[in-house]
Amino acid sequence: MKLLKVRFAPSPTGPLHIGGARSALFNYLFAEHNSAQLVLRIEDTDLDRSRREYEDEIISSLRWLGLTWAEGVDAGGEKGPYRQTERLNIYRRYEKQLLASNHAYYCFCGEDELEQERQNLISKGETPRYSGKCSRLSPQSVEEKLRQGIKPTVRFRVPSEEIVEIPDLVRGQVRFAAKEIGDFIIVKSDGIPTYNFAVVIDDTLMGITHVIRAEEHLSNTPRQWLIYDALGFPIPEFAHISLILGADRQKMSKRHGATSLIQYRETGYLPEALFNFLGFLGWSPEGEEQILSKEEMVAAFTLERVSKGPAVFDVNKLNWLNHQYLLKKNLEDYAVLLEPFLKKSVYYHSFACLTPEQKELFTAGMRSRLVFLSEVEEYLQLLFAPLRYSPESEEVLAQNDALPVLNYIKEYFPEDTSTANVETFLKNSVKTLKIKPKQLYMPLRCALSGQIHGMELPVMINIWGQEEFLSRLRLTLKKISGKVC
Ligand code: GLU
Repeated sequence: MKLLKVRFAPSPTGPLHIGGARSALFNYLFAEHNSAQLVLRIEDTDLDRSRREYEDEIISSLRWLGLTWAEGVDAGGEKGPYRQTERLNIYRRYEKQLLASNHAYYCFCGEDELEQERQNLISKGETPRYSGKCSRLSPQSVEEKLRQGIKPTVRFRVPSEEIVEIPDLVRGQVRFAAKEIGDFIIVKSDGIPTYNFAVVIDDTLMGITHVIRAEEHLSNTPRQWLIYDALGFPIPEFAHISLILGADRQKMSKRHGATSLIQYRETGYLPEALFNFLGFLGWSPEGEEQILSKEEMVAAFTLERVSKGPAVFDVNKLNWLNHQYLLKKNLEDYAVLLEPFLKKSVYYHSFACLTPEQKELFTAGMRSRLVFLSEVEEYLQLLFAPLRYSPESEEVLAQNDALPVLNYIKEYFPEDTSTANVETFLKNSVKTLKIKPKQLYMPLRCALSGQIHGMELPVMINIWGQEEFLSRLRLTLKKISGKVC
């Protein structure tokens, strides 16, 4: 059986985006499902925008997500180097070949001239494309211009009559008229190849059998197809996966919130939740199951089940998934995951002073509540920041029955603030006062934390201890009764 090979080929011009992560994930799933090889190649031919820090960041994001690859920029392999700027001499060989076979030619047109030409076509309502002026230069005038030291670009000569038909594994047969493309640049005047040229050479020499990438590259594919053809290279299978849209059905962008994987990591999403979530962005297994482990996804993943229609990024679904994965953690693992978020907080010192039992109570409370881990800050604030009242809690405290309830609690509050004891005391108080539980818990919560939501009251009270509890209660009583208590 032929060994299948796929690749993920990010440009290190920024952090890894959701879209890039999803492409990488689909390649990974395909590779694992088919016992194929995954290659990580860095496409850094945009010298102005490419940075090594981004490359490192992309790699660490991919690893964090749980992807592995056996060949590539950091893993090595026989087909390297895997960074395009280290392959320039390879591209040069094929550039020469295309020039010699007349599939490509030197173009001496300057930027201004090309821009003028573009604008003219646009103003006539035509698709801007190169006029082909330099394709008609005589060999003598090419020699002459080269002798004058003019640095040319190299353009691919597009056979204008051709219709390029691409059998796409996701989109079906896609047709392009070559005459719409115009002769395009394959090597810039500084000698650096363009994406469309380098990608063909690399995919061929690296033995890539399946190119799985974002739909936005579909319009590049006919250009690449023509280059494959001109060089006599075997053409890989293509699978263009659909766009990711925000909830408003517009293309996913910063407006829709976090777009880079690192932001999700820093917000406290789990890699396994994102893995699960991204896997379902444009793919679905048979059946209704929404939570799949990595192994289950690998087993179920086929390109036939990748959808043609756009995928919608539903942050509520991601939140739900993350919460489900967090709930599955045992307390010890949960505490380890929570630790960096606690350490980042200005209230970390207060938290660190709690007893091991109090820390455990807090951690258990967080596990059942937090949708993502950085939300812990709200709860730390609730416990350790000076008491401030939200407008909703002011409303609760302004009601007539709040004062007698709070006075009663202050009067009879037990010295022992263990959760069990506090719980019993509060339950008994409800009975004694002959009120509904909410009539006690709500004003008390507001009186102590200034908020209408939070953790279980007995846990919060246990963490405060009697002294802090009473001081908070007194403060609120003073506020609502207008007198010193
Ligand atoms: N370097 C391209 C990008 O980051 C990838 C193109 C491809 O997969 O062919 O979008």
